[in-house]
Amino acid sequence: MGDTHVLVIGAGIVGVCTAVHLLRDGHRVTLVDRGAPGEATSFGNAGCLNGSSVVPIAMPGMLPQVPRWLLDPMGPLTIRWRYLPAIAPWLWRFVRAGRPERVAEIARALRPMVGPTVAMHRDLARAAGAEALIRQVGHLHVYRSETEFAKDATGMAMRAAAGVTVDELGFDDLRQLEPDLDRGYVRARLIQENGHCADPLALTRSYADLARRMGATVRRAQVTGFAREGGRVRAALTDQGEVAADSFVIAGGAWSRDLAAALGDRLPLDTERGYHVMVAAPEAGPRTPTTSFAGKFIATPMDAGVRAAGTVELGGLDAPPNWGRADILLRQLQAMYPRLPRDLDATRVSRWMGFRPSMPDSLPVVGPARAVGNAFYGFGHGHVGLISAPMTGRLLADLVGGRTPTIDPAPYAPGRFA
Ligand SMILES: Cc1cc2nc3c(=O)[nH]c(=O)nc-3n(C[C@H](O)[C@H](O)[C@H](O)COP(=O)(O)OP(=O)(O)OC[C@H]3O[C@@H](n4cnc5c(N)ncnc54)[C@H](O)[C@@H]3O)c2cc1C
Repeated sequence: MGDTHVLVIGAGIVGVCTAVHLLRDGHRVTLVDRGAPGEATSFGNAGCLNGSSVVPIAMPGMLPQVPRWLLDPMGPLTIRWRYLPAIAPWLWRFVRAGRPERVAEIARALRPMVGPTVAMHRDLARAAGAEALIRQVGHLHVYRSETEFAKDATGMAMRAAAGVTVDELGFDDLRQLEPDLDRGYVRARLIQENGHCADPLALTRSYADLARRMGATVRRAQVTGFAREGGRVRAALTDQGEVAADSFVIAGGAWSRDLAAALGDRLPLDTERGYHVMVAAPEAGPRTPTTSFAGKFIATPMDAGVRAAGTVELGGLDAPPNWGRADILLRQLQAMYPRLPRDLDATRVSRWMGFRPSMPDSLPVVGPARAVGNAFYGFGHGHVGLISAPMTGRLLADLVGGRTPTIDPAPYAPGRFA
């Protein structure tokens, strides 16, 4: 059991999970965020709790497809060309992470991080009084042709190698499961172990409230740097003054790069921007969260309606959103569930953009800062931050408390890019 004062910077899903795990260990916790808990990237994700998410984003054979994706206005990938020079080093590392032997290592490293997600979220959500937000009806991958089905075999084999059971479905089974789905989808794969969250913002808020009830102080402030003393961090510098603590956790999502740099670590964190569109009171939609193989987006049934989320836009943290990307998701959703009207009343449709905190090798950074003895990182979870947050929080609590780590932290070490 710990008895130190820990400052957690960032009240996204990673920061709040970390705060709760630290509090469970008996630490005193201050959680600081410039905004309200959960209102950044953790607000609008697809809600998937897929323990099967072991397939990295950079995959062998992906590169030849990139030009086609970039040229297709409905495609899943876009780049703000002005941002290309800034992200080029990240892209170089991304391509290198797609080598076959590295991809297999990454998948092995991801499974212990993502595998326990449903059980761990259930445990936290139960404590937070939010268990109803955690659902477990599996996750569907749907295909419009046998060719598409076959193209996804590599990723599915990686999941199977990680111990995930993947069921293959034909047309009739798929219709039974998803009566609203367009009849052009002829094949599917169902991963039953997967779960989802019916409202990611509400979940993050509920964990922040749990942390408060357990004694955490939740403060609004922008962290601008650190005061160091004798190889240790003494205090975080904020726009509201200094906040002193014994240990520091940086869980600032896509904005963590400068904070790590202020502690002496130059880490290749960038952002894969993503969009969602949400339709309230939908006439049709999925019963099971469903990935469209061709569209590379996910349709998730949520408490407030159906959400289509996904796509990747490389454009940094400062460029304004391109809402056309969200409109594309809406059109794809309407094509997937044809009983959704084409002329949806605008008051039923909401759009959102968020900043995935992405490392080029699809693995988060979870571990101690290299130049100071009492600061720890928990960021860079890319496409799987909601899934990975409980294990990240657990691991950070182990590291802060000096306890034997629950899972091997070596693959997530900040030093792997040196
Ligand atoms: C379209 C889309 C779909 C997605 N779908 C899924 C999914 O289905 N499943 C899944 O697991 N993941 C998904 N993700 C990814 C997931 O949303 C993120 O990985 C996750 O939300 C990251 O959480 P976080 O706590 O690290 O960051 P955030 O939620 O962004 O929180 C970081 C917090 O740090 C604060 N902060 C940063 N810097 C400072 C500072 N200097 N001072 C004070 N506060 C600071 C910010 O205000 C923010 O509140 C998706 C993402 C997108 C964009």
